[in-house]
Parts: sequence; C-alpha cells; structure tokens
Amino acid sequence: MKSSLFSAALLSATMLAGCATQTAVVAPAPAVPSYGRTIVTPVQAEDSYYTTAQARVSARAETRGAGQARNVIIFVGDGMGISTITAARIYAGQSHGLDGESYQLTMETFPNVALSKTYSDNFQTADSAATAVAMMSGVKTDSGTLGFDRNVQAGNCAASLGHEVESLFSMAEAQDFSTGVVSTARITHATPAATYSHSPSRDWEFDGAVGAQAELGCRDIASQLIDFPAGDGLELAMGGGRSNFMTNEQADPEYEGRTGRRGDGRDLVAEWSAKSDDHTFIYDQAGFDAIDFDSDVRVLGLFEPSHMQFEQDRPNDTAGEPSLSELTAAAITRLSRDEDGFVLMVEGGRIDHAHHGGNAHRALVDAVAFDDAIRTAVEMTDASETMILVTADHSHTMTIAGYAARGNPILGLARSEVGALLRASDGRPYTTLGYANGPGAVCTAADNGACERGDLTDVDVEAPDYQQQSTYPMGSETHGGEDVAIFATGAGSERVGGVMEQNEIFFALAQSLGLVD
Ligand SMILES: [Zn+2]
Repeated sequence: MKSSLFSAALLSATMLAGCATQTAVVAPAPAVPSYGRTIVTPVQAEDSYYTTAQARVSARAETRGAGQARNVIIFVGDGMGISTITAARIYAGQSHGLDGESYQLTMETFPNVALSKTYSDNFQTADSAATAVAMMSGVKTDSGTLGFDRNVQAGNCAASLGHEVESLFSMAEAQDFSTGVVSTARITHATPAATYSHSPSRDWEFDGAVGAQAELGCRDIASQLIDFPAGDGLELAMGGGRSNFMTNEQADPEYEGRTGRRGDGRDLVAEWSAKSDDHTFIYDQAGFDAIDFDSDVRVLGLFEPSHMQFEQDRPNDTAGEPSLSELTAAAITRLSRDEDGFVLMVEGGRIDHAHHGGNAHRALVDAVAFDDAIRTAVEMTDASETMILVTADHSHTMTIAGYAARGNPILGLARSEVGALLRASDGRPYTTLGYANGPGAVCTAADNGACERGDLTDVDVEAPDYQQQSTYPMGSETHGGEDVAIFATGAGSERVGGVMEQNEIFFALAQSLGLVD
C-alpha cells in the first residue's frame, strides 16, 4: 500500500509538472473582481516619469498577484516623516499610559509597506505641490506647480498652457465615481489642490493672487474647485480656506471684522449652493452635525477662513470644528453610497505647519489625530474592495536624539534610567526631539557667532507652545529630503512594496481601480 501510494503521488506530481509546462494556458485565470472600468490613456501617458513608474508598478503587481479595488482612500500626512511617525507612536502610547516605544499606530499595522523617494523634477527636497502631483498624476514636476508636467516653471502662466496633466480625481469622475477631498489645511492648499486644479503657482489660491496673469487664461485655485469640469464634480470638499471662496465685501460667518478675499465679485459659496438642491455649504460643527451624510447631499465644508485649527487648539475654536476623524467618517458614509466606487483623499495638513514652526508638540498631536482618522477608515471599509494607502508628501528636519531611557517622555528632556538629566558637552540638558533648522535656533544672526545654547534645566519643554532647539536659524523650519513611508492595506495594495518613486503611488491607486494600464 505504502509503495503504491508513493507511486501514485509521484505519478501525479509528474503529471502536474507536465501540465504546467505544456498546457498552462488552459488553467483558468484566478478570479479577480472586475468593476467594469474603462482603461484610459491620460495626456501625460508619454512622459518618461509616467512610463517608468507605470512599468515598475505593473511588474510588482504581476509578481505579487495584486488585485483590483472598488474604492481607494489616500491619506497624506503632510510633512509626516518617519521620525514623526516614531515620535507620534511613542507620544500616543504614553498619552494612554502605555509603553510608548512598543505602541502601534493603526498605519503601522498595514501589511504592505514601502519607502517613497520624494524629490521633485527640480528640487532635492521637494514641496507639497510637486509631491502631490506625483501622487495624483504619476509624473514628477517642478516644485510650486500644480497640475502640469515638468516643463512649467513655478508662476509662469504663459509657459504652462498645453502642459496640463490629468489627475486620478478627474479620471475617476469621468467614470462616474464619487470623489471627495478632506484636509485640515485650506482646501485650496497644495495637497488637496492637486486633485482638482491646474495652477502654475500653488499660491494662486484666490483671484487676487493670480493678478495680471489671469489675462493669459490662468485661473485661481478656489474657482477651479467650484468649476471642476470632470464628471459631475466633487461630491465633498471639506477643510479650511473659506476666505478664498468669499468676496472681500462678504462678512465672515465666524469672525467679526473679517471678510472674504476675492476682488472679482464671485461668491463661490453661493455658486456651489446654486448647482443643485443637494449642494450644501457648512462652516461649523453645528452645520456639520445637521447633515445626513447617508444621503445624496454634496458638501462644501469650509471651517476656517484659512487653515483649520491644530488638533491641540480645536477644542477652543469659536464656532466648533469637526475632527479629522469625524470628517473622514462623514466622507466615507457619503461616498460609499455609490455603486460605481469612490476615490477619497484625506490630508492631515497641519503636521507640516507645526514642524515649520519648530513646534513638535502640535505636530505629534496632529499626527495622532491623523492616525485616528485612518483607524476610522479601516473600521468603516471592507478590505476586500477598498484600498487604504497612507503616506507623507515629504519629511521635515526633526530628529530623535540619544540616549534617553526607555519610557522617557518623548517631548521631554533626555534622562537616564535613574532619571538624571543627560547633558551635552556644554553641560546643559537637551530635549530628545530637535530640529536641524528653524525658529528655535540656538544661535541667531544677532549673536554674531558669540552665543551659548539656552539652558533648558527649568524650561517646560513639554508645554504645547515650546519650540524645540535647532542648529541654525530660519524663520520657518524646512522640509526634509529623505524618503518617507508608504503603508497600504486592502484591495490592490500589493502594488506597494520596496523602494518606490513617489509617482508610483498614482499607479498603485489607479491600476488597482482599473483606470490605467
Ligand atoms: Zn511645508
């Protein structure tokens, strides 16, 4: 019996091997859900940045057997470098009274992880405009520009004409998806603006900023959100930036004495609301709470004249603002009603702003709020049909210095295992978190080279407003140029792996949706 079983096994193995080499074409292809999308060829499809990234993601998808997605959600933590993720993890754990170092953020639990190379076409260390275009359109481009290929210099309208690139959002809208953009920054700021606009300058957020170049045909970013021509336009746009949508004669609904910024007389809020009975405008928590997002409502939510509050300051807001997690839940509720699928971008936009201010405390609090929004998305979606991809557009110069003992408060002064302050060679204590540059510089121009690093012994370095020390002075701390992380889970997320060019992210999303080859 034994020998005949063995023989049978051997025989069938031989037959299988034979089949594999001779009749592989007969084997049925694995069942891949298809959502009936039409492959499109965007105008940028011949760009060498596009074709190179396309080939790399296609090869990875094949090797790893990547599936198809009905929906995608891309979370962009603006300026959320890897040191920010590590520090936010420790901060989150310690805030819960747990061991910070071994704590897990939701994003960390995703199975497919990669590094993203963030340089732009013309800068080693990039800005949020070029990096957002890379992720939304699959090409690297010049820093400061939105919605164009590499042949456009920032601020040059004449040179931009004819160099437009298409975004994932315009492709999705053209195939009847529902689309939404959520950000804690102004909704006209670089990262969200890359989903719906073409602007040679990221600064042209309202008509007055475009100035005379409007005569050449360039339009401000706020008006492009309202006039977004793809499909039936965005279903949801929620964030800050109200003043770019109001005229300079309209009073702000929240702050007395403030008005909108527009000089062209266009009341973009009224234009949005006039599009249909479903189009609604909200500007505060009460308005947000009054909406049934499980309906056909289309929402322009602008909760501040400029950026929304930092999470640290949100409880003190005059009119009340929803959290990023609440905004994300509302967006998923609304967009997931669409059988055709949805594309959603959620930006944690103010991690970056806190870092620019040399203020690690607010950066970490915002990074944790961002991770809370990611957890909400995981809980509300089905991984078999929705991909969630989390990344940053670029890093910052924040570092985590040695050698504080395990369990030391991440925002605190570095201390030994017995609680003694660690001291630098100037004899003074230092914080674990610091910046290479920025407003917290230990020496300023006024010191003329003769300066001492401030003594932190009696400073409350964990206070929300504390600015960490930095090596050299800059009014605004700068972005960092090293790679950032990508974390992905759900349908199609096997396309994320290895060391990726940032513009490969577009293909990880668009190929999974079946929109591009
Ligand atoms: Zn920035």
